[in-house]
Amino acid sequence: MAELKGVTGKIARVDLTTKTVSVVEPPEEVYRKFLGGSALGVYFLFKEGVVEPDVHPFSPENMLQFMIGPVTGVGPNARSITITKSGYNFISIATSGGRAASELKFAGWDGIQIVGKADKPVYLAIVDDNIEIRDASKLWGMDTQKAEVELLKAVLSPLEYRESILIEAELTPEWAALRPPKRRGIGAKRLAAAWVIGPGGENQVWYANVITEGARAHGRYGPGAVMGSKNLKGIVIRGTKGHRLADKAKFLEIAGQIQASEAKDYFWRSYGTAGIGARSANIEDAFPIRNWQWGAWADPENVRALEGAWMDIASFVKQVACPGCTLHCMYLTQVTSKDPLMDGTITDMPDWEAMGMVGGNLGYLELPEATPSDPFKGDHWDLAEFLAKNQYTTFLHDYYGLDYIEGGCLLALLMELRQRDLITPEDLDGIDLKWGDVHAVDAILKKIVAREGIGDVLANGTWEAAKYFSEKKGKPEIMNYAMTGHRYAQPAHDVRSPADKNALEYVTVSRPCEHTGGGGAAFKQGDWAAAIAGQNAKAAVDSLVYCLFAMGHWAGKTVDLLKAATGWTDFTEEDLGKVGARQYALCRLFDIHTQQIKDPKKEWDSLFPRRWFKDPLPTGAYKDAVAYEGDPSKLFDEALPAYWKERGWTEDKGIPTAETLKELGIDDIAEPIAAQHR
Ligand code: SF4
Repeated sequence: MAELKGVTGKIARVDLTTKTVSVVEPPEEVYRKFLGGSALGVYFLFKEGVVEPDVHPFSPENMLQFMIGPVTGVGPNARSITITKSGYNFISIATSGGRAASELKFAGWDGIQIVGKADKPVYLAIVDDNIEIRDASKLWGMDTQKAEVELLKAVLSPLEYRESILIEAELTPEWAALRPPKRRGIGAKRLAAAWVIGPGGENQVWYANVITEGARAHGRYGPGAVMGSKNLKGIVIRGTKGHRLADKAKFLEIAGQIQASEAKDYFWRSYGTAGIGARSANIEDAFPIRNWQWGAWADPENVRALEGAWMDIASFVKQVACPGCTLHCMYLTQVTSKDPLMDGTITDMPDWEAMGMVGGNLGYLELPEATPSDPFKGDHWDLAEFLAKNQYTTFLHDYYGLDYIEGGCLLALLMELRQRDLITPEDLDGIDLKWGDVHAVDAILKKIVAREGIGDVLANGTWEAAKYFSEKKGKPEIMNYAMTGHRYAQPAHDVRSPADKNALEYVTVSRPCEHTGGGGAAFKQGDWAAAIAGQNAKAAVDSLVYCLFAMGHWAGKTVDLLKAATGWTDFTEEDLGKVGARQYALCRLFDIHTQQIKDPKKEWDSLFPRRWFKDPLPTGAYKDAVAYEGDPSKLFDEALPAYWKERGWTEDKGIPTAETLKELGIDDIAEPIAAQHR
């Protein structure tokens, strides 16, 4: 086989049951069809039979994949992506920033596929071609920060480890060891990188994530729980090889253009999504406040605590970035609070999702006894405490290794049930979980990660918790307060506000209720063809694999960069779109088949919050707004079938037709499954 460029042509398959490592070498046509990352990972879930319903998410037969793409390595905005069957029994695709992505390429791998289950806790140590399965008994039970440091020490010499501490001497030793060296970008000095799980993953909390660099996460759909089910604590990688490119000069020229464009990006370089996210969400009436009971504060002063510039003054420590990124959206901060529980904690500046889901959503941005409809009567010290609670709760999720979108959704559900006297403190093992109470949040999260008492129920997420309480209390209306889509948390974007998302985005995105699926403006205009093109383009981003936040800077250059990496000179924009279309068709079939859904619209597609249609926004610019004029049939019986038709899927069930699968060139793996569900 001719030597491949861009990709390495090798994926490591690690079987933890047999303690063996083998090498999977996909042919070039598979790379051309799927590129890498998410699309290639989903392809393998079909090829290896993980899509079948008898493969339990936490069984040894499930496959957990860490994948990168042809431009990951010395390319800009490098990210990695995990693909597996989620503990919720649907597709799990989760992307993360951090150096580990490039490190994997430099070690000579396009991905790692983990199957089986170790008989005791282990971690993987990858140094170039050498992959060792090592004992992790001493790391089991450790939080994510400590565990990551221990893994780095395992592959770095004492001198190298000491150097990394000295470079970042202003931080705590734990954080110092996790930060990238000062020189970044192409040619940056590299040491090693690691992915780890915390106690959340070890105890198979369904929404446990995988953490790197202290606060970067393969955040959603619980890859950490699958990792924990395999007794795998972490993966540490050290790569010393290069990134083999077809046309190095061209590749570096285009990469340089992307970085130069990013350097002029005022929005991302000014605190990332934290910059103006809070203020604009309040203007758009789309801020998750108290489990989406409000979309805006009557007094915008409440939200000032979460504006980038204000957070900068209150708690900024240091700005950091992924390899080759000039946007550097991540900010390290140190919590300032009168409360010793929180004061001094080092964490990252909450991004928009954290601000929404474990900020406004938990009632952290009002004074006691005030509601979001009241004027703000506090001072800047009160604002500092609002911010501290948001930062600290973000930190707790990272520290334990939990998705704060699902975590925030669950906590807000419980707080609203408490507000409405639908549950009591006794239902939560004596914890009185009220709006704004960070100590109660601290206590309940401890129970969840340990699966102790009621924590064992709550560890299975928002939907299961609502089901449990509605049955226990004999009150079916409790389900109305679960703000989930496809049984997973709705992220911090509202569908009632016309300025935010169209509900069909959440309904159709390739992983359940994902907020970065693409096609936003076209969805609002009802232009399904353009919306689908946007979704396909985003799926291609996750297959290449680079950062969504940089997508605008890659526009018009992506295919040329890919060509320079791979040497596929005949590759076109249309080919790129087809990669996304393949991912969408396969993800749709995965969810339908693995759950053995007979009536997709009833059992799956319409599993969205009643609040979207029945609880109008009570205040703000879009007061009284609801989704789809309050009529779910306009969404599920009119818009959705039209979207499916545009995709070449059946209009009654949304199953890709035989012609569509053939046209996409995936009929060999997908048609036998699709035929069972049409
Ligand atoms: S924008 Fe942020 S997440 Fe994206 S590559 Fe840059 S630093 Fe990483």
